[in-house]
Amino acid sequence: MLFLELAQTFEKMEKTSSRLDLTQYLVELMKVTPSNIIDKVIYLIQGKLGPDHSSKELGIAEKMVIRSLSLATGISSSEIKLKFNEIGDLGDVVYKLNYNKSQSTLFSEPLTVERVFDTLTKIANTSGTGSLNLKIRYITSLLNNVSNLEAKYLLKLILGNLRLGIANYTLMDALAIGFTHDKGNRVILEKAFNVSSDLGNIARILAQGSIEEVQSISVSLFIPVRPMLAERAADSKEALSKIKGKCLAEFKIDGERVQVHKRGTRIELFTRSLENITSHFPEIVKMFTDLDVDNFIVEGEVVAINPHDQKFLPFQSLMRRRRKHDIQQAMEAYPVILNLFDILYHNGNDLMNLVFEERRKILEINFGNIKSDRLKLVNQKRVSNIDEIDNFMAESLDSGCEGLMLKDSNSRYRAGAREWAWIKLKKEYAGTITDSVDLVVLGALYGKGRRVGKYGALLLGSYSKEEDTFYTICKVGTGFKDDALSVLYDTLSKQIIHKKHPRVQSGNVHMDVWFEPSVVLEIISPEITLSPVYTTGRNMIKPGYGLALRFPKFSGNIREDKSPEDITTVEEIIDLYNNQFKQ
Ligand code: AMP
Repeated sequence: MLFLELAQTFEKMEKTSSRLDLTQYLVELMKVTPSNIIDKVIYLIQGKLGPDHSSKELGIAEKMVIRSLSLATGISSSEIKLKFNEIGDLGDVVYKLNYNKSQSTLFSEPLTVERVFDTLTKIANTSGTGSLNLKIRYITSLLNNVSNLEAKYLLKLILGNLRLGIANYTLMDALAIGFTHDKGNRVILEKAFNVSSDLGNIARILAQGSIEEVQSISVSLFIPVRPMLAERAADSKEALSKIKGKCLAEFKIDGERVQVHKRGTRIELFTRSLENITSHFPEIVKMFTDLDVDNFIVEGEVVAINPHDQKFLPFQSLMRRRRKHDIQQAMEAYPVILNLFDILYHNGNDLMNLVFEERRKILEINFGNIKSDRLKLVNQKRVSNIDEIDNFMAESLDSGCEGLMLKDSNSRYRAGAREWAWIKLKKEYAGTITDSVDLVVLGALYGKGRRVGKYGALLLGSYSKEEDTFYTICKVGTGFKDDALSVLYDTLSKQIIHKKHPRVQSGNVHMDVWFEPSVVLEIISPEITLSPVYTTGRNMIKPGYGLALRFPKFSGNIREDKSPEDITTVEEIIDLYNNQFKQ
């Protein structure tokens, strides 16, 4: 397949803000893509080289690309740099350059998608001495004899700047329409995606096989399952009323969720956003290696503990450990413990269709008697009334946890779903919103005074899963320490896009810059109010009004463990708003 075809589709996508158009362009692309490379095309659209859990980073700096571009075009590096400083994106720079194709030869073949993908994979696998020059040579080889349009998207892919605004849901819609002529089949694709986390593979099975084959995809070891998520309740009364079966309460531990896969000596750990983090927790890996139990997928919360009194430490301590480069030092400074709360697979059996009570029994049988400083089962208790919940909550807070998870004993494990089968309940403050919310950064205004050269205020949004859209909710400018400001500035600057992202409903706000929705911040606020400006919950409470956080403040936590689709939802914000009046 010619890379030009892909570049032309990318160009059309970049020019539209309409989700319908995006889907239509994708459907057309799927139709002309050969089935044996459809997985590669899907990964490239996602700006990756494989599924999240095994995709390698390209690790390419702008400097390297400028050097390659200079070699390929004959234009000096300093001239390219000048244009880059002016325009801010090397893909757009190359598009505007009067591209010198003198390097092309009579015999050069047109660039194919296969060659692009394979060369990018080689770049990602290149490391060690001499790798810099080799990478430059690979990039230069791709840039020889291509049109401005191909060069533009090659560079955007290489630098990870391809920001087309295409979410997995849009891709799944396009696959369902393109291959089955029925958008309704997206549900089947979504189910398969939730257990296999690999849209490229699903697309290939669909293109070469059938929707029935996709339907039969099930859980397998070393491929992470998308985690089941929890709804949020304002108080124990509301939570209890939502649970249909018996209510099993557990401590809600303020750490990082990990999914552990083990067969023989192979052990792998994944985060809730499916990143492989096996190398971060060698002591947990060692503990599982020494364990007799084998062939399983379990889930739990890793938490840092105070080595003196063994109490749980808050999430920030774990993040500090994650940032340390010397793992040995990090292990000593921040010892961790894994608290298991679920089992999804054991000895060749998919356990996700068993009810929670049975899964917990299997967890207890296999892991309940293990004497290890590194492993525990999450504290659990059956509760049947509000007093029991409130007492257990007090116990949980006392041991350093952030609240309770209430689980329906009769519920199955629904990968990727946020339902009332699991309910989170955090510490309550009468008359205020119950706890912090996690929001994604959508845009920013430049700072003034002490904050010149940084961002002064960040525009934040909540998420609607149904519409796969981000809605604005506030601007935040307080709670930022100087070092956090710098870190955020550097992180966010890499996510700048030319115009508002197609998945954002922003209403009428002016921003100096817009971002690809990716950075998640934890925000505290005493109150939610009606707002004529922000779009979260617009027209749902009062015509013409949305909801806004009043006096929002950054808590200091950048939620690196959460993807934008994991943040607080519009529905949760509406519930929080309504709950303010129940107190
Ligand atoms: P939140 O991140 O506030 O949406 O809360 C859900 C998260 O709480 C889960 O993804 C887990 O990381 C974490 N968690 C802590 N304790 C438990 C538990 N006992 N059961 C399930 N999840 C838990």
